[in-house]
Amino acid sequence: MTATTPLYDTYLRAPLRFERGEGVWLIAEDGTRYLDFAAGVAVNSLGHAHPHLVEALKTQAEKLWHVSNLYDVPGQESLARRLAAVTFADRVFFTNSGAEALECAIKTARRYHFAKGHGERFHVITFEGAFHGRTIATIAAGGQQKYIEGFGPKAPGFYQVPFGDIAAVKNAINDETAAILIEPIQGEGGIRLASKEFLQELRALCDEFGLLLILDEVQCGVGRTGKLFAHEWAGIQPDIMAVAKGIGAGFPLGACLATEAAAAGMVAGTHGSTYGGNPLAMAVGNAVLDVILAEGFLDRVRDVALVFRQGLASLKDRFPDVVEEIRGDGLMLGIKAKVPSADLLKAIRAEKLLAVPAGENVLRLLPPLITTAAEAREGLARLERAAEAVRAAGIAAA
Ligand SMILES: *Cc1c(COP(=O)(O)O)cnc(C)c1O
Repeated sequence: MTATTPLYDTYLRAPLRFERGEGVWLIAEDGTRYLDFAAGVAVNSLGHAHPHLVEALKTQAEKLWHVSNLYDVPGQESLARRLAAVTFADRVFFTNSGAEALECAIKTARRYHFAKGHGERFHVITFEGAFHGRTIATIAAGGQQKYIEGFGPKAPGFYQVPFGDIAAVKNAINDETAAILIEPIQGEGGIRLASKEFLQELRALCDEFGLLLILDEVQCGVGRTGKLFAHEWAGIQPDIMAVAKGIGAGFPLGACLATEAAAAGMVAGTHGSTYGGNPLAMAVGNAVLDVILAEGFLDRVRDVALVFRQGLASLKDRFPDVVEEIRGDGLMLGIKAKVPSADLLKAIRAEKLLAVPAGENVLRLLPPLITTAAEAREGLARLERAAEAVRAAGIAAA
């Protein structure tokens, strides 16, 4: 038997083939230009072919690609120092993906208690609707049956409680609890925001019971909400944080950040990665920070987010038969559809606009952080035409 493709059938791909990108635009093989508000699922934080990133990658590519972690990698020192300077963190471990950053975060939390003589404290409280990656441990952390089924026994030590339910969290804490793990904004789950109060209450519970607070800012971090990290809006600090996606802007890069105390158990030999933090990744990661930490950059993200917020509110007002609710913060936005979201996505794509599906019948808009107000308005106009098309096709709710 020969398959039509030698690739695994794991992805439901749209029949689009892109050849190159320019800023917020993706250009297909046939020359069609798409406005890219999917941004590689919140990865292309600086759009496509950003000159500063291209230059950094090219320059590094001519010098050195990879040496492994048998040796010092100066780019790791500088990127870690820069991240520590602008966050709660004292220590950083570099990975190649979000799931690996989460694996490091979970291992760090467990080792923290182990190093204090409490190896039995390895349980992590997580939340319904969460997504933390596709490794054996992170599917258990996410707790979604559709990702766990058929892959053997669920990795032990992860307990889901309802998102936003502080009493349920409190109830789940026992002598074996090591940490609480949460996305400040659930991405795959459907752009669900944890309230400031809820994050503050989790911080307080962690302090009361000696637990570590782990934040998964893989999707909502690195400027996406208009602050460098989403938890800053709540005025709290985690003990450990997983970062990826936007920090590499398209180069596979993730990081686990921790306080000195939380990272205390991660001594020589306890963790590692062959590729993690290689010179190419570090050149790109440092270049991404050059842009995002530049004076005024995050102010512009907040300004353009306001254009989206107003435009989407008016879309919901004018198309109550198509749009049920607008969700999100900054440039992490969700349109909860009143029609099947797949139909709305199809109509949006027909307008040459790209968005990302999510849970709860939500479509995500994750525009690059460099999106201008004019580009935002262009996207909103395309969304409106798509909503009109859905209505005209008779798909809209009566
Ligand atoms: C994408 C994502 C992950 C997993 O990242 P990968 O790079 O796909 O391993 C984990 N957590 C959140 C919140 C994500 O959005």
